[in-house]
Amino acid sequence: MRSIYDLSLKDLENYLLENGFKPFHGKQIFRWLYDKRIEDFEQMSDISKKMIEKLKEDFEIRQLQIKDLQESKDGTKKFLFEMEDGSLVESVMMIFEYGYSACLSSQVGCNMGCSFCASGLLKKQRDLKAGEIVLQALHIQKELDKSVKRLGNIVVMGTGEPFDNYDNVMKALSIINDPYGLEIGSRHISISTCGIVPGIRRFAQENLQYNLAISLHAPNDELRDSLMPVNRAYPLAELMEALKEYAQINNRRLTFEYLLLKGVNDSEKEVKKIRNLLKGLNAYINLIPYNKVSEKDFETSSDENALRFYDLLKKAGVAVTLRQKKGDDIDAACGQLRANHLK
Ligand code: SAH
Repeated sequence: MRSIYDLSLKDLENYLLENGFKPFHGKQIFRWLYDKRIEDFEQMSDISKKMIEKLKEDFEIRQLQIKDLQESKDGTKKFLFEMEDGSLVESVMMIFEYGYSACLSSQVGCNMGCSFCASGLLKKQRDLKAGEIVLQALHIQKELDKSVKRLGNIVVMGTGEPFDNYDNVMKALSIINDPYGLEIGSRHISISTCGIVPGIRRFAQENLQYNLAISLHAPNDELRDSLMPVNRAYPLAELMEALKEYAQINNRRLTFEYLLLKGVNDSEKEVKKIRNLLKGLNAYINLIPYNKVSEKDFETSSDENALRFYDLLKKAGVAVTLRQKKGDDIDAACGQLRANHLK
């Protein structure tokens, strides 16, 4: 049966209309789901018995099962969720100065095959449905409800490639963003892609206010080819072309993520290449410490070298930030908790 959480407000209104109900009840139902966060149709006290019966006939209101929950000293919480079919998916809740943020997964496993990443250790089993993405955020909000806190930010940076599951991710975000849904502002939502060019082009046309982040990790094709197979399909020149198009349509600042891999991409020669690549773009580069994955040979740059690299970029006139480590005392690397459970 279909999950009620797979429906955007528009879908729900259409459904009501098709079944002889007034569409405005859609907003009421959304409030019960995402504001009151009830888990049983019967609790929708201002909805008619007849409508409740019909909803129960057509939809499930099933929640995700929490299989594991790890908590770090810095407050980061990592959730391992089990889907209806037994698939395992991880999500992370982080605390920043600006509030609570949830990192959501978009697929079960991943096919992008980045050489440093734990998610790709297990091939993609399937795409997540919109509702399964929404429920990750909803469960994290429910965890925060215990201390009357509000989830304020979403990043689609967990397992999976969001632009390889475009429609479901966009529908999920529309529910998360909806004023009658989880009501998280567009500018507090970020999507991270490894660089699927057709996805970037399509996203550019939507003219949404979500933030777009690109996993760059290498400033030249040779190195990027060796780290990220996607670069062979969409090399840097094509990627940058699509991003320039995006920038022309959307007046939004782009984020480039750059993992610090010791001895691989963290030397002075990359600095100049990064500067040339980003020249003229409204963008900044976010340097990310690498979370060690035991199955991989990569190591993170030393703190000293990370700072040196940061300084060199800054001196070269590149807008740069250095990401703080979160939850590095738990299985925080992408896909690590799930991989360890499946072992
Ligand atoms: N597929 C998308 C989103 C998921 S990955 C993408 O590639 O952007 C989210 C980010 O985590 C990417 O920048 C990815 O390269 C990075 N990442 C993967 N493994 C990591 C690790 N072990 N430590 C730190 N970041 C990692």
